[in-house]
Amino acid sequence: MSVEPGRIPAPDRATKQLLWDRMIASKQTVSSYVVMLDGGSLETLDLTAAQAEGFECLTCKSQHTTESGAFRPVGHIPSVGTVFQCLKCAGGAR
Ligand SMILES: [Zn+2]
Repeated sequence: MSVEPGRIPAPDRATKQLLWDRMIASKQTVSSYVVMLDGGSLETLDLTAAQAEGFECLTCKSQHTTESGAFRPVGHIPSVGTVFQCLKCAGGAR
C-alpha cells in the first residue's frame, strides 16, 4: 500500500463517526440560551449544547455534518457560537 509522502493518513470513516457520536453525546445538556436571530430579534430558547454550538439544527436537531452540508446560519449566541437550521426547517417555518 503506497501513501503519498507528507500525507498523514486520515482516520477512517468508522473512527470519525465514532468520535463525532461521542462529541454529540457529550453535548446533550439542555440550557436556556438567548439567541440573536438574523432578523435582529432576541429569543430565549431551550437548546442542547450541540444546538447552541451549531452542531445540530435549531429546530429538528438533525446533525450538521460535512456530509449533510445543507445548513444555513440563522443567528448567533453571544460568546457561544452560530446557530443553524437545516434547509428543510429554514425554508419551511420562516
Ligand atoms: Zn431541521
